Amino acid sequence: MQLILLGPPGAGKGTQASFLMRQYGLAKLSTGDMLRVAAASGSELGNHLKDVMASGGLVEDETMIRLIRERIDQQDCEKGFILDGFPRTLAQAEALDDMLATIGRELDAVIELNVDDETLIKRISGRFSCAHCGEGYHDVFKQPNTPGVCDVCGSAEFSRREDDKAETVAKRLESYNRQTAPLLPYYEQKGLLYQVDGMAEVATVTRQIASVLASTARPS
Ligand code: AMP
Repeated sequence: MQLILLGPPGAGKGTQASFLMRQYGLAKLSTGDMLRVAAASGSELGNHLKDVMASGGLVEDETMIRLIRERIDQQDCEKGFILDGFPRTLAQAEALDDMLATIGRELDAVIELNVDDETLIKRISGRFSCAHCGEGYHDVFKQPNTPGVCDVCGSAEFSRREDDKAETVAKRLESYNRQTAPLLPYYEQKGLLYQVDGMAEVATVTRQIASVLASTARPS
């Protein structure tokens, strides 16, 4: 199964992708996570990626396409994968179509998580994550069970994303509306687009996505 989660920053794509990864045994391909790892390397390319991310803009299509092309060839993608944060432009979407055709696979569904701007900003401004295992938390909606200790791995180190600052968030939303929103009609025309209410509780959103996937399941 090949699945795309689409939606603005803060819509819950990463959270839902993690659930789906566990539930369906799919690989989770988060381009934001991959770029953050590359940006931390201190190399020339890493510094460039860091600057682009801090600006709220998008990394060049060519770089992103190469990154995904190499990633989907890896063994953990054999059963299928969930794309979180890719494609973000029409050029990326078209390149993805070509890559899938080359390996004889198809997209099963593109799921758009709908969340209003006010909620997105509230969600993003309070989020933080475990610096060790990456588990996500929120100042208001999801504190660790024991304050200061990660529920999953027990680490006491947490971090906040540099690009979650209010001024960068506004630019990221602008990039989404200008460059990524045009993907919605692209996938709608292909009959692949499904809308899910991303304002609902996390578990409800997961259930809604599962029911979309059940409706699109191909006979094996
Ligand atoms: P995310 O974690 O998905 O919000 O991504 C964080 C940042 O990484 C974005 O604001 C972009 O600067 C960059 N990025 C992630 N995925 C892509 C992509 N597919 N194309 C271009 N830039 C991307």
